[in-house]
Amino acid sequence: EASVEKHHYQSDIARLRKIVINSLYSHRDVFLRELISNANDALEKLRLTSLTNKDVWDGTPLNITIRTVNGEDGTSGRLVITDNGIGMTPEEMARNLGTLAKSGTAEFLAQAEGSPESTTNGHLIGAFGLGFYSSFLVADQVYVASVPAKTLENPNPQQYTFSSSSDDNDFATYPDPRGKTLERGTEITLVLKPDALEYLEHHTVIELINKHSVFSSSFPIYLFQQREEEVSEESVTDIPVDNERVTENAEDEAVIEEVEESQTKETKKKTILVDDWAHLNAQPPLWTRDSKNITSIEYQLFYQATFRDFKAQSLAWNHFSGDLGSGVSFRALLYIPGKLPDDFWHGSQTTSTTGIRLMVKRTFITSDLGEDYLPKWASWVKAIIDADDLPLNVSRETLQNASFLRQIKQAILKRIIQTFTKIAEDEPDKFAEVQKVYGTVFKLGAVEDAKNSDKLVPLIRYATNQRNSTSLDEYVENKKAGQKQIFYVSDAGKSVSSLAKSVFVEKLHARGYEVLLLTDPLDEVLLHHLRKWKGIPFQDAAKVGLLFGDEEIDLEEERIRQAENKEKFGPLLNWLKKQAEGIVRDVIISDRLVTSPCAVVADAGGYTANVQRIMSATNK
Ligand code: ADP
Ligand code: MG
Repeated sequence: EASVEKHHYQSDIARLRKIVINSLYSHRDVFLRELISNANDALEKLRLTSLTNKDVWDGTPLNITIRTVNGEDGTSGRLVITDNGIGMTPEEMARNLGTLAKSGTAEFLAQAEGSPESTTNGHLIGAFGLGFYSSFLVADQVYVASVPAKTLENPNPQQYTFSSSSDDNDFATYPDPRGKTLERGTEITLVLKPDALEYLEHHTVIELINKHSVFSSSFPIYLFQQREEEVSEESVTDIPVDNERVTENAEDEAVIEEVEESQTKETKKKTILVDDWAHLNAQPPLWTRDSKNITSIEYQLFYQATFRDFKAQSLAWNHFSGDLGSGVSFRALLYIPGKLPDDFWHGSQTTSTTGIRLMVKRTFITSDLGEDYLPKWASWVKAIIDADDLPLNVSRETLQNASFLRQIKQAILKRIIQTFTKIAEDEPDKFAEVQKVYGTVFKLGAVEDAKNSDKLVPLIRYATNQRNSTSLDEYVENKKAGQKQIFYVSDAGKSVSSLAKSVFVEKLHARGYEVLLLTDPLDEVLLHHLRKWKGIPFQDAAKVGLLFGDEEIDLEEERIRQAENKEKFGPLLNWLKKQAEGIVRDVIISDRLVTSPCAVVADAGGYTANVQRIMSATNK
């Protein structure tokens, strides 16, 4: 017992465990998804490590197995989930399962304790990396036995166990009293709570795997089952029994013995129990299948499971194949998430992990394509790219320089735009929804991505004095005969309706001109950047010197009136100039106002206050 190491959970963890256990109770099914996801990660880590360190894996099949063990004689039922992945040393178990490295802890606590509804949302577990703790939703006691992968320094690693119960604030690690039952990897034993025995039912387990994990694991998941099989007497002793697969459960031995005994009696055909492993995720991965045979529900489930976005549905997807040249083809599945990452506009952090999973022949290679792999406007995209041939053991640096990555990037950007363009053409109502999430993203892309700007601008929609929504193309089609400018007024943060009432719009509106009403700070930046659309320059209606396209019609009349006005109002102008000295540059008679008596406008050459603000921010 001297070798048992007792540890206290950090205080945050103790609180966290209570919250997870108590408040996520109604979503306790998620525990299985989380444990499978950890097993999958461990297998992926082993495979990736083996690319540079051959000692860790001899190439034997990697898999995840699930066993149920019925309780007997007062013991509780157990659910055992095993992987032959990278495994953990006892120190790693204490660190990874007993502490939370994630910075999200405090944030999670605040959110979970602050708002009771959010805690009933099972998505939080995945979102905050609390996967392992969800075990305690269904288990009173959890044992984690693990053997880390072999290394040169540690050629014969021992099996250790981590154990913790749902009501202590302690956990322990110690050499496994059973010795080394695992070749390599991790076995999680959940001693189920008396009210969680439904997880011993195979149909429940199969249902949960189908719901949450069938798409997300690239390794086979097997459920241990015993089925009855009829055999003739002679062949009884010949039944191949794989030692590793035979359960050591005393009950099973008893059953087998019973059968053998009855075998010695007179009949020839006998029923015996045979170990069987049901392959729960036998379907080929979704992206390899023919899109004609895939339902929307399957696409959505795959999206949620693969990208762990359980909050929002995907808005749209694009399932396609392509060619990287020299005969290398790829299949890809790209998703438009239902919402942008929370920190998309404000985030200062940059991460090298993209939402792009690069695979070769169905095997995950990397998501680490460098922080600038995609332009910011497209950085939210989720995609799987599966090439049929790429050098597998390239280093990260070579990967980033590889020309196929540039090709893939161009394909992704093209497909994102294509997906949005198709919605705009075919599903106007849905496109209105798309605008709410991605409207500003299109503007950002049109400014930052010179290559794709021309294709992104047509996706942008503006409110005008004449209609709720127009594209620049529609504006140009709708313009009046002789109109030589695209008119706009801009005031970030104001409402469209107040802009519509602005004095600058009045005169244009009265003359039947359409005026873009811009309320997004990016609008003006984009218009300054584009300068014209379809050869027609943008004109800020709030700038002095505004000319209408039809001015030649009443040019002469106008000149006479202006001369009259100048004389008539000259003394008033002089008086006003004196009153407002140092505040305005000039006071002039305007031709633009219809109902308002006066307006303060920006100088023709200068930026508006709005653009000045953005310019000074981006120059930092
Ligand atoms: P996350 O998976 O988000 O990191 P978890 O609570 O699910 O958070 O797991 C915590 C850590 O414990 C993992 O990051 C990993 O290091 C370790 N771990 C969990 N399960 C396994 C496993 N089956 N094999 C190896 N390591 C594991
Ligand atoms: Mg996890």
